[in-house]
Amino acid sequence: MPVPCRTGCGKNAMLKRPKTGDALCKECFFWAFETEIHFTITKGELFKKGDSVAVAASGGKDSTVLAHVLKTLNERYNYGLNLMLLSIDEGITGYRDDSLETVKQNRDDYEMALKILSYKELYGWTMDEIVAQIGRKNNCTFCGVFRRQALDRGAAMLNVKCIATGHNADDIAETVLMNVLRGDIARLKRCTAISTGSEGTIPRVKPLKYTYEKEIVMYAHYKKLVYFSTECVFAPNAYRGHARALLKDMEKIRPTCIMDIIYSGETMEVKEAVSLPSQRVCIRCNFVSSQEVCKACVLLEGLNKGLPKLGIGKSSKAKRMLEEYNAKQHKSLEEAIKDINEEYEKNNCISKGKVCRSSCKSKQTAQINKTHKTTSETCCNGQSDEKLNTDNDITNSKVKVLLKEYGLSEPAQDDSSNLIAVKIDHSNTEKVGNATNDDDFEVDSHNTDEQIVDEDDTCGGACGKIDSLHISF
Ligand code: SF4
Ligand code: ZN
Repeated sequence: MPVPCRTGCGKNAMLKRPKTGDALCKECFFWAFETEIHFTITKGELFKKGDSVAVAASGGKDSTVLAHVLKTLNERYNYGLNLMLLSIDEGITGYRDDSLETVKQNRDDYEMALKILSYKELYGWTMDEIVAQIGRKNNCTFCGVFRRQALDRGAAMLNVKCIATGHNADDIAETVLMNVLRGDIARLKRCTAISTGSEGTIPRVKPLKYTYEKEIVMYAHYKKLVYFSTECVFAPNAYRGHARALLKDMEKIRPTCIMDIIYSGETMEVKEAVSLPSQRVCIRCNFVSSQEVCKACVLLEGLNKGLPKLGIGKSSKAKRMLEEYNAKQHKSLEEAIKDINEEYEKNNCISKGKVCRSSCKSKQTAQINKTHKTTSETCCNGQSDEKLNTDNDITNSKVKVLLKEYGLSEPAQDDSSNLIAVKIDHSNTEKVGNATNDDDFEVDSHNTDEQIVDEDDTCGGACGKIDSLHISF
């Protein structure tokens, strides 16, 4: 027997709202769904009239529904927003390339401008390449950290006032649970905030904060929205997946638990004595960071140095890895320069490897290089000056190539000394290293915790969500 819609609209109910249990017809469900989001936006004062807003769009259900509802509400309530789509292309073949096609469809359907920014153009690496380097264990750490910064960069390029993300109530409840389970007080404090962003950053807002995931799926289904629902090919069985499974089990028994957990997170107080990380600017890329060098720069440094695990795990481990790496680099560089020096000596003195005692320039080298024994009369007597200069240039260019190969830039030229011999000196070799700002690259020693990606930026594709893709920026 048909059940009438609970609102008394006179139509028959089509569905039972997961959030409230109300039996509603389709139209009343749409109205309730959209109006709740409107209340969330107005109560949280997420936008101001005339704002430009970037909707973080992955092509998944959350961001597709968000774009659709924001467009609807913008027109219905005259928000006066300039909405656009911002997508990040992580470079995951068979996944992101397909989902971006969905985003392009959204662009056409919703008549919004679209900006796509790729990891390749920002960092020089695609996720496919990163996974080939690091394997499939920590891939989401790289992906999440890079995505966060990529979104910031894209929003800055679009000159928007804020970024609207598709985080829904289930995501936030899971994050509260996870932060409780691992005692992450700093994240627990901020994970329920509807608007995040410190001074100097573009704020992120979550209009779907109180919207149940099941209702998002229903809304997309009944509205026949086009969205992409394949899981990322690199999605691991992450910790979040366990928190999600736990939440789903509890939701079956008590659907309000999602809102209750969010409420608990919102009202939990953090003791003043608990120290929280302060915000500053990364000395390398100038983006906001809680460390001297931001996590994205640490991870990128590791990739570029062939140390992909550099940003994974404790910072003390990262420091040790860097020290070992630098020591190895210096040792190899010294050996290579020694080879070049020996070749240089052979080529530049007419004594050809016998020994030069006179005033020719090979004498300088001989003095500096203790292994060069002086004995003989078959010396060039300084006649090879011209040749020496030429050969010096050649050798210098060899050194340049060598330095480049080792990722080290050339030191300041010291005219008063023999360039090659100077580089053999260890203290000067270190200076060569400094030219690459290696010393600037420090991992904050205060942060000895396991490095965990900010859950706000972790892709939900990592959680193994059933029946739909969950990419939440
Ligand atoms: Fe990136 Fe998400 Fe895939 Fe992990 S699951 S690699 S975070 S897209
Ligand atoms: Zn940085």
